[in-house]
Amino acid sequence: KLEVVTIDGPSGVGKSTVSRLLASRLGYTYLDTGAMYRAVALACKRAGVDVRDEEPVARLLDTLDIQLLPPDEEDGDVRVLINGEELGLELRSPETGMLASTVSALRPVRDRLTRMQQEIGRQGKVVAEGRDTGTVVFPDAAWKFFLDASPEERARRRIGQLRARGVEVDEKEILEQIIQRDRDDRERPIAPLKPAPDAVVIDSSTMDAGKVVETMLAHIRR
Ligand code: C5P
Repeated sequence: KLEVVTIDGPSGVGKSTVSRLLASRLGYTYLDTGAMYRAVALACKRAGVDVRDEEPVARLLDTLDIQLLPPDEEDGDVRVLINGEELGLELRSPETGMLASTVSALRPVRDRLTRMQQEIGRQGKVVAEGRDTGTVVFPDAAWKFFLDASPEERARRRIGQLRARGVEVDEKEILEQIIQRDRDDRERPIAPLKPAPDAVVIDSSTMDAGKVVETMLAHIRR
């Protein structure tokens, strides 16, 4: 088995916080796969390419050099470069998340990013976070987790996160976006969001991140 931990789940469930903490506890590299889908979405937006159109997106994808840099010291966010240019805060906006969800349903996008992720994970010692890291990207991962929580709780957390970054938010809109993005992610034909058959499912509705990480460490060290 590959020395990889996968953490999948719907948006706003606390995957990033938990994945970062767990990676640092284990001394593993944190792989934020969502950031890669977000980067492709932003590249489409900037190039004026419709994120639903497979062919133009595939053509644009061929011209993109995508690079992941280790997390920023200040906010812990993974940094992404497209053709040498670092993408800023826009990468993390809810709008970019929606665009990422749409573009991530396209086969050429998933194929390219999945290959990149597998390349990064090949040496092991990675905590990968996303929607399909346990089902598609790393089916041989030694430890798989699926984090879940109610949409209301997830909206509450996402709002807190955005406000902490100084982003103004409409609470009702965030909840609606969360519900819609989950539905899209769960119902799409390729790499739908679902727990791998061998994943440990953790409901984090009433657990803080520290507690979730301890639960995971207990499974890993068993
Ligand atoms: O996790 P994050 O909110 O950054 O992900 C943005 C979108 O990218 C998700 O809604 C999902 O549609 C897509 N995604 C994916 N597969 C992954 C990670 C993210 O399809 N492994």
